[in-house]
Amino acid sequence: MDFIASGVNCIMPSTSRRLEYFTESVIRKMTRIANAYGAVNLSQGFPDFQPPNPLLQALEDVAMNGPHQYAVTWGAQNFREALAKKQTKFMGMPIDPEREIVVTCGSTEAMMCAMMTVCNPGDKVIVFSPFYENYGADAILSGAEPIFVPLHPPNFSFDEDELTRAFEQRPKALILCNPSNPTGKVFTLEELQFIAQLADRYDVFVITDEVYEHIVYKPYKHVYFASLPGMFERTISCSSLSKTYSITGWRLGYLIAPPAIIDGVRKVHDFLTVGAPAPLQEAAVTALGFPDEYYEELCEMYTQKRDFFIKGLDEEGLSYTYPQGAYYVMMDISEFGCPDDTLFCEWMAKEVGVAAVPGSSFFREDVRHLIRFHFAKKIDTLEDALQKLSTLRSIAKRGIF
Ligand code: GLN
Repeated sequence: MDFIASGVNCIMPSTSRRLEYFTESVIRKMTRIANAYGAVNLSQGFPDFQPPNPLLQALEDVAMNGPHQYAVTWGAQNFREALAKKQTKFMGMPIDPEREIVVTCGSTEAMMCAMMTVCNPGDKVIVFSPFYENYGADAILSGAEPIFVPLHPPNFSFDEDELTRAFEQRPKALILCNPSNPTGKVFTLEELQFIAQLADRYDVFVITDEVYEHIVYKPYKHVYFASLPGMFERTISCSSLSKTYSITGWRLGYLIAPPAIIDGVRKVHDFLTVGAPAPLQEAAVTALGFPDEYYEELCEMYTQKRDFFIKGLDEEGLSYTYPQGAYYVMMDISEFGCPDDTLFCEWMAKEVGVAAVPGSSFFREDVRHLIRFHFAKKIDTLEDALQKLSTLRSIAKRGIF
């Protein structure tokens, strides 16, 4: 048995070796740094505005009337029914609330459950790079081994030969974040069809992360991977209510998949968390019933925020990637000559008063010239951030660190 020193006079067994292969979330660490310096927090992506009023009203009702005890482990009946109705409409295919949905604690749990359901230790999983940082830890915790396939700027498209070579290594699954965090890329129908034919040819599962499904800017369109011909059978669609209804703290996510996969997911989920919070599921049924205009207005609101924020970056002559979906902008910091984006972000939070996420936490490759901002904030907050960013160059001239 391995031992580690603990204190002066005692030793204790060492913790799991898997912990050596991933760090704490850099995104969430940046929120702590933002709070410590009182910086405008454009790092961890969550809104600073209220969720829709009818949803808050429903929450108030639930406080008095319940439920306050466990829901069915794979999701409250009325929540699954409301979700199935909404997703049937948007995905354009029938979703069975009885056999094809598991409700989870955020899409974070959904992705973990998906990985643990399909992967054996040693299985390979294709991950596009840059990638949302959770996928690396998901792979390690489920024993899978990532095969990274680069997304090439400026469009962050994959090279067909590189992707084909990854499939030739016989992976068990591919993870597809669409719209993509952190790049804001929306995969085209042609790209998705290319992935689909490879998934079919090599018999691979596709695990999607579609939490930004309703934040897609015109003229781009979201195509649900599961809705492509023949793909529902091999797709585990993960998503959540966090971004769509501005309730990231409610931790309501879900998986949609064929019954044979869902049977496995139910088992994993049951022993990981038992279930998502029953009172919050009950209140969220109201949101799942919102009319189509809600989603149009959501997109309109984020379009305004995106345009406002990037206009401010343009005015400062700062260069960035143009988001087609989601609510992130990757800004290029090459001009500042700082070799370490993590140090740059800590310095910027402290000295400039704006927090961002170092881009290196999303890339497999050694990329240190990008940082990620999110713009899911009130216009006033974005204005404050832009005002502070207008001092970035002059403060940097005095020296970074
Ligand atoms: N998805 C958000 C982001 O990328 C929030 C991440 C999290 O902390 N769950 O910033």
